Formats: sequence, structure tokens, C-alpha cells
Amino acid sequence: MGELRMNTSCDVLVIGAGVSGVAAAVAAARAGAKIILTEKENFLGGVGYSGLHQYICGLYLNGEAIPGETLNEGVVREIVGLLNKLSPQRTIKKIGQVYVLPYSGEDLAVAFGSLCRNEKNLKVFFNTSAVEVKKKNKMIVEVILSNDVEKSPHPPFHKGAGIPLPRSIATGSGGITSHKIIPKIVIDCTGSGDISAMAGASFELSPRAKRQLAGFTVRLEGLKDSGDILSIKVPYYLSQAVNKKLLPAYLRFTAFSAGETDGEGFCKINVGGPDSARREQTVRKDALKMINYLAKKLPSFKGAYIAETSLRVMEREGRRVCGEYTLTEDDVLNAGKFDDGVVKNSWPMEIWDKKKGTIYKYVKTGDYYEIPFRCLKARGIHNLLLAGRCISVTREVLGSTRVMGTCISLGEEAGKAAAYYLEKGKYPFL
Ligand SMILES: Cc1cc2nc3c(=O)[nH]c(=O)nc-3n(C[C@H](O)[C@H](O)[C@H](O)COP(=O)(O)OP(=O)(O)OC[C@H]3O[C@@H](n4cnc5c(N)ncnc54)[C@H](O)[C@@H]3O)c2cc1C
Repeated sequence: MGELRMNTSCDVLVIGAGVSGVAAAVAAARAGAKIILTEKENFLGGVGYSGLHQYICGLYLNGEAIPGETLNEGVVREIVGLLNKLSPQRTIKKIGQVYVLPYSGEDLAVAFGSLCRNEKNLKVFFNTSAVEVKKKNKMIVEVILSNDVEKSPHPPFHKGAGIPLPRSIATGSGGITSHKIIPKIVIDCTGSGDISAMAGASFELSPRAKRQLAGFTVRLEGLKDSGDILSIKVPYYLSQAVNKKLLPAYLRFTAFSAGETDGEGFCKINVGGPDSARREQTVRKDALKMINYLAKKLPSFKGAYIAETSLRVMEREGRRVCGEYTLTEDDVLNAGKFDDGVVKNSWPMEIWDKKKGTIYKYVKTGDYYEIPFRCLKARGIHNLLLAGRCISVTREVLGSTRVMGTCISLGEEAGKAAAYYLEKGKYPFL
């Protein structure tokens, strides 16, 4: 069992078991390192699991021909293979100029569970937050974890049936317990760069008013004719309601997409605003008002009900930790390649703007840009790597690098680099 002891040392401490964290932990474990993966929630996959997304983006090269394979090799390709086995009917799909892979959160959790279970060097702890980081001479020397063993296995508002928990789950006598971890390397996969901030690393964070819109997804059942036409009708009726001040203005950016089964559909609400805790409650209430309004206007919505929601209002933009290099909009638009390029990406920069809605800026068709390893290496803290949403990029570039396919590959590269450092005493490329 992976019981957390008061003082535990490990080679690599990966914090956050979202898509980047799982890939980082698995890649480092495969290279022979002793890994702890710690997650404050009780499931694997982070926003990729709890956000009710329908598609994995950032997996494929954009272009005319349907891609036969993922743009990046390695763990990401393995995950796609596992997802294909679990749901062979979900095949690559073209939306506008880009290709995506339809998936379900449950499949992702099953795939991640099996990847983690197969690694004997990897211990996974749920309900366990990193709460403090201690540093000495530009090195992280200690991380304090707080483990809430009494937290319920699945939050009641999020249907999570059938998630196989990895073999090593945190156990204890009850309540909250604290543990000191002494890692050789830390990989910040928290999405929001929390660990880097605790370690005193420099980061960029747009003021809340300028941040890209956050999202809250509502999954509906009981719709009649939930076909494509609703994706045009819903925004039309919502903008009318907003103009008549019957619904709050932010709901005009709500998108609708049909689900996979009859009567299923997703309303994707996009929201900006100051206080996220207050916003959470407001958004939940407004979502209900919105569905009731649509039921009055559209016969398809009569009898529709909210079956599930995303875990919370999910941030698209958070801290971007400063690395040895910061990837720019020019790098993306010119399909920049680098000597230390480790991840390829062809996903456009998607900017979710408060006034204009979504703005897309595309990488040249048939081409991709590279993300250099230096964007994964925190500046000024020698044993801290970054993966996923918090890497070193500009605000615009984050609109492209944050998608799940890319985050998985970033995780894998950080995990491999950590193992390389342990073996050679230096990072690759640096
Ligand atoms: C509204 C919205 C819609 C999106 N739609 C899509 C889409 O359709 N397709 C797509 O590909 N991408 C989409 N994305 C982007 C994508 O889901 C995320 O950017 C990506 O999954 C981020 O992965 P990550 O591993 O970096 O972080 P996360 O998924 O955020 O994982 C971070 C994990 O770290 C944990 N954590 C945080 N702090 C601590 C701590 N102190 N201690 C322990 N654990 C901690 C968190 O609980 C979490 O599980 C969307 C994002 C949003 C917000």
C-alpha cells in the first residue's frame, strides 16, 4: 500500500494528477525513478475529467488530410490507443479547421488508472494537497502535504461511477494529517502554478478583469431533437434574452453542442468576473434560469433537465510561471522550431475574450510549432519543472498550449527530463 509516512523521500514529486501530472508521473516512473503523485481531489484527470469536455484537442496536425496518428509520440499516443479500445466508436473528427478526438471523462479515468497501476515505482495519493514548499539555495528541499482521509470518494454533484482508484491510495486513521516529503525534483502540474508560487518562483498573472473567460458546463438530458440546429438556435435565443435584460449579459457567450446519445446536449457557459466563489453560486443559479427560459422558447428544451455539471467554474487562464524561455505569439504563428523543441503543437490560439467572445489565430495549415524545453524549466529554482497549463508562455500562447493533448505531452517531457536529471546530474539541452 502507498501509505503516506510523516517523512518520505522520493526522486520526483509530481503535484497535481490532471492530464499533465499523470503523464509526467508515468514517464518518470518508466525511466526508473521513485515517484509520488499527489492530488487534492479524489480522481485522476483534473479538468480533463471533471470539466465535462467532449473532445481532446491538440492531438493532431491541422491540414487537409485526416491525420493517421497523433502529432506527438509516446504516452499521448498510448492514451489515444487505450481510449480507442474503450470506445472504438469515438473516432477522430474535424471541427472547422482542426481535428479532435471525442472522449468521455470516464474512459479517460479508466485509461489513466490503468497507466498508473502498471508502474510499480509510482505511488498516487488522493485527497492530498501540497500546502507548503521549503527552499534552500535555489532548490526545493521539502514539500508539506495535507491529507484529508475522510473526504468522500466521489463528490455528490459529479457523477464519477466506475473510476478504478490506483493501488496506492492514501490511508490513515481519520481527519487531516500532514506529511513532509523530501523530493529530489518537483514537477508543478497544478494547472494554476500553485507550487511555483509557494516556492517563490516568478510568474505572470493577468488581472482578473483581463483574464480569459472561465467556463462552466451543464449536461442536459431529455432534449427532443438535440441535433445541430440547436447549436444555432440556443445562442440566438440567449442573445435575445440578454438584449431584453431577461438573462445576465455573460450568458450570450453560451454555446450548445449535441451529445452522443438521444436527448443529450451540453450548454457551455463562459464567464468572466471578479470573485470566483460568489461567481460559482451565481453561475449555477443562472444556468437553471437559462434552461427554464430556453424551455419556454424552444420545444426541444421542454422536458430537458440538468443531469450533471462540471465540478466547478473552470479557469482557462491562471499563473504562467516564468521559465528559461517564454513562448510568444510570433513563435506560434511562424511555426517556430527550436533546438530544444520537445512538444509539437498545431492547435490555434483560442482567446476567450470578455467583450468579443472567442478569437482564433491559426498556425499555418499543415505545419506546427515546437515548445522548447526551456518553457518547462522554472527560472531561478533549479529542481522545479513545469508541465500543463502553467508553463512559460504569453497570455495569447496559453490559448494554444493549454489544450489536453498538448498538456499530456508536456507532462511526459517534464517527467522524462526529471529522470534524465537524476541520472546525469543535468537537464537535457541546458
Ligand atoms: C472551460 C474549459 C473548457 C475546456 N475545453 C477543452 C476541450 O474541449 N478540449 C481540450 O483538450 N481542452 C479543453 N480545456 C483545457 C484543458 O482541459 C486544461 O487546460 C487541461 O486539462 C489542463 O491540464 P493540467 O494537467 O495542466 O491541469 P488540471 O487539469 O487543472 O490539473 C491540475 C490538478 O492539480 C490538482 N492540484 C492543484 N493544486 C494542487 C495542490 N496544491 N496539491 C495537490 N493537487 C493540486 C488539481 O486538483 C487538478 O486535478 C478546457 C479548459 C476549460 C477551463
